[in-house]
Amino acid sequence: MSTTAELRTITHWIAGTPFAEASGRHGDVYNPATGQVAARVALAAPEDVDRAVAAARDAFPAWSRTSLGKRSEVFYAFRELLKRHADEFSSLISAEHGKPVSDAGGEIARGLEIVELACSLPLMLKGEFSEHVSRNIDVYSMHQPLGVCAGITPFNFPAMVPLWMFPIALACGNTFVLKPSERDPSASLLLARLLQEAGLPDGVFNVVHGDKVAVDALLDHRGIAAVSFVGSTPIAKYIYGRAAAAGKRVQALGGAKNHLVAMPDADLGAVADALTSAALGSTGQRCMSISVALAVGEMGDRLVPALRERMAKLKIGPASDPQAEVGPLVSKDAKARVESLIGRGVQEGAQLVLDGRGVSVPGHEQGFFVGPTLFDHVAAEMEIYRQEIFGPVLVVLRVGSLDEALDIMERNPYGNGCSIFTADGAAARHFERHASAGMVGVNVPIPVPVGSYSFGGWKDSLFGDQHIYGPEGFRFYTRSKVVTSRWHEVDRVGVNLRFPGGNS
Ligand code: NAD
Repeated sequence: MSTTAELRTITHWIAGTPFAEASGRHGDVYNPATGQVAARVALAAPEDVDRAVAAARDAFPAWSRTSLGKRSEVFYAFRELLKRHADEFSSLISAEHGKPVSDAGGEIARGLEIVELACSLPLMLKGEFSEHVSRNIDVYSMHQPLGVCAGITPFNFPAMVPLWMFPIALACGNTFVLKPSERDPSASLLLARLLQEAGLPDGVFNVVHGDKVAVDALLDHRGIAAVSFVGSTPIAKYIYGRAAAAGKRVQALGGAKNHLVAMPDADLGAVADALTSAALGSTGQRCMSISVALAVGEMGDRLVPALRERMAKLKIGPASDPQAEVGPLVSKDAKARVESLIGRGVQEGAQLVLDGRGVSVPGHEQGFFVGPTLFDHVAAEMEIYRQEIFGPVLVVLRVGSLDEALDIMERNPYGNGCSIFTADGAAARHFERHASAGMVGVNVPIPVPVGSYSFGGWKDSLFGDQHIYGPEGFRFYTRSKVVTSRWHEVDRVGVNLRFPGGNS
């Protein structure tokens, strides 16, 4: 094991350069596959946050005045650099998060979609124009940047979730301070370096690492205009309340309990494959993981053995093993929490079909591994159904009809994504119209919208009005202004105190 003195320190990135913290506080960054501390990360004090916000404020006037063409050139260059460094991102992410390298590669692939959207910023920032709405009067609208925006992001997608935010914020002419998860902070620094290499002026994008101290300093900071948050529901609710009370624009995306409805007419092999992949990819640590299967009618009896067969075959192991499909959880606490929830499910009377507790990976005995776990005959009152487990656990509820499935989903507090597998177009259409979630899949298990649409859930999965990236991202990061203008000739209309009408 390395001593503290030998450990690499992950610093902040302020005004285009690495910056060691003023606070002297550090956090441990683990290799989840070995359970060992691999690096230490600076934890920002409020003074560090002040410094980052000051750098972003100083950079704002010039960046917001930079032409749209010049701004989009930065994103074209950044896109190429992201592609060139995709492997480097995958290894950095795997080392700190624990997910297989191939899975980590998906983060950059999906993040690139948002960078490509940022490249089309001249189109996305177009206003509207109405000629001659009244005699000699034209009206037009424009979308202007807000100022300094902050992003606070979770551990599970250390590159992709920041990429949901800052390309759009910067494209709109804002500057940015990112506070990534302190559990896997390295990817954020590579993003910062590549933005600089792409030609982004120093100070436009800054990174502060930290915990609640740094987050609270951002939420209360008078120099921050807007906060984007992605993480768990209790923290999302807290962020929304505190930042809104400080007068900021906020979008706070929370946790999830995503349901897949398996209709009796669905292809059994397709639905079992989809459920296994969507439940266990990234060891169940995705906000769009499917963690609940609602098996309609006789589908349950066929589905559960098919799931068991697939899940039991998966290879558990570290990211360094190219054959490994299920990696470790992110931390020792996460492993303990997931194992305790599995125990709770057994106590509550659910049928444990496959038990992932107590797995041991040779050579990685201290790693944070939990194996694939499957519960059948789960009831909606049980904790394993109500809580977001965020681990490799799939629960199956048996239901009599599609409407019963929709009713269960409606009563669940979360509403991120959901999906139906069926061969019946009418059932699919009924599901699309009545599902109480922001993102719906039809024969698609993880319906993450492409970059040209926006991503966001309903209910406790999102606090705020606007979804992230896509057209709603551009609206979130700009404020609109409407100009009413008379230029042809200045008519002398005389003094008139009547309320101005639209058809004079
Ligand atoms: P988390 O809520 O613990 O942490 C998210 C961020 O908040 C981190 O940057 C962390 O430092 C900060 N934070 C944590 N505790 C805080 C506190 N008490 N006060 C202020 N800031 C605090 O989430 P996580 O464990 O990193 O990520 C997993 C969660 O994120 C899951 O619930 C998952 O569903 C959710 N998530 C949601 C989406 C979505 O799009 N809805 C996407 C990814 C992840």
